Formats: sequence, structure tokens, C-alpha cells
Amino acid sequence: APLDEIDARVSVCRACPRLVTWREDVARDKRAAFAGEPYWGRPISGWGDPRPGVLIVGLAPAAHGGNRTGRIFTGDRSGDWLFASLHRVGLAVQETSEHAGDGQRLVNARMVAAVRCAPPLNKPTTQERDTCGPWAAREIALVAPYVRAAVALGGFGWDAALRSFAAAGYAVPRPKPRFGHGVEVLLERGTGEAVTLLGCYHPSQQNTFTGRLTEPMLDAVLGRAADLAG
Ligand code: SF4
Repeated sequence: APLDEIDARVSVCRACPRLVTWREDVARDKRAAFAGEPYWGRPISGWGDPRPGVLIVGLAPAAHGGNRTGRIFTGDRSGDWLFASLHRVGLAVQETSEHAGDGQRLVNARMVAAVRCAPPLNKPTTQERDTCGPWAAREIALVAPYVRAAVALGGFGWDAALRSFAAAGYAVPRPKPRFGHGVEVLLERGTGEAVTLLGCYHPSQQNTFTGRLTEPMLDAVLGRAADLAG
């Protein structure tokens, strides 16, 4: 299937020298800290329903989260927050996401990262963003016909979602809609195909520790996305 083909091809991508070095160095240096567990240290594929009503667009895998476990938003604090909320609104079968074999499953939802390798300080360069962009764009183009609501986590995910849906033929309003928590923008293609893009603060510790993003705020956006997807 085309999604499987993207997964297979991205899993061996080495297009960004800085990120290839970083993901592999982190994997080598930290393997001892997670002794006995496999350490992924490679690009992170999209994950979830192949025909999702809800699409979640994140930034990039965390060094010891996705980069370690091989599954997006799995094994780190951002993922803990995100999956607990997804479970509360009915989009995930379990409240935690700890490792790739834990039985977790998304329900009518899929997650993709705008950049698929863990970047130092969670900050990809503009060049890395642009080099990796086509992976997400291709995946989003494949699932877009099913998607009713896309949730962008943070401004980086917002811009990636807008670029990807535009590349898939959806009309993006001008001037470009600005990211904000709870902002909604309707993206339409042809006659009758529409996706509501929702902005949501990223559940990073910077936001959750400081109270900028609370559990009710996250539940409100993800619950709205679940409602839109029926
Ligand atoms: Fe390839 Fe994307 Fe990783 Fe760069 S960030 S090496 S383009 S998968």
C-alpha cells in the first residue's frame, strides 16, 4: 500500500546530515540508560488509522521519545499528555503510550510529524524543515480524502499542515491564517471536500509545566476534532 511504501522509504532516509548524526549519537550514548530495550534512532513514520477522520500534525520526534521507541509521541512527557487527552475524547484506546508493543491504538485518528528525525533542542533548521516536508506532504495527500479535522500542535505543525494541504490542492485563505490555540480554519478542495484545521498549543513541557496548556484546553481542541470527524 502507498502508506507502507512511504514508511519503508522514510525509515532509511539520511537526507539531513546533522539530524542523522544527532539521532544516531543520541541512540548510541543513551542506549545504556535504557539497557535491555531496543533504541530506534531512525526516522519516525506516521502512525494510526490509514483512513483517519482526525489527523494530528506534530513537530518532530523527541530525542528519548519517538527516537527511542520508534513510535511517534511514545515514551516521553509530551506523548503522555497527548495520549491521555486522546483517550479522554475517545481517539485512543489506552491513556498511556509507552512502547511500540503496549497495545495502544488510535481510533479514527493518525499522527504525523512535520520533521521525522529528532532535532537538537527540538529545533529543525529551515533547510531540514524543507528537506523533510515532502514526506509529510505525501502522507497527508494520501489520507486527506478521509480527514475531516486536522489538529496542528504548535506553530511549526500549523505551517506544515497548511503547506501540505495546499500541496494536496486545498485552498488556503490569504493572508495565511495565523496559528493560535483554538483557532479554526476551513480548507476546501473542489466541491464538497473540506478539512477543518485546528490550532493547539504543543503539549511540550514548556507549555504544560507553565500552565500555558492545561488538560481542559487540550481536551477541548481534540474533542472538537473528534466531533467534527463524527
Ligand atoms: Fe530524512 Fe526527514 Fe530525517 Fe531529514 S528529517 S533525514 S528528510 S526523514
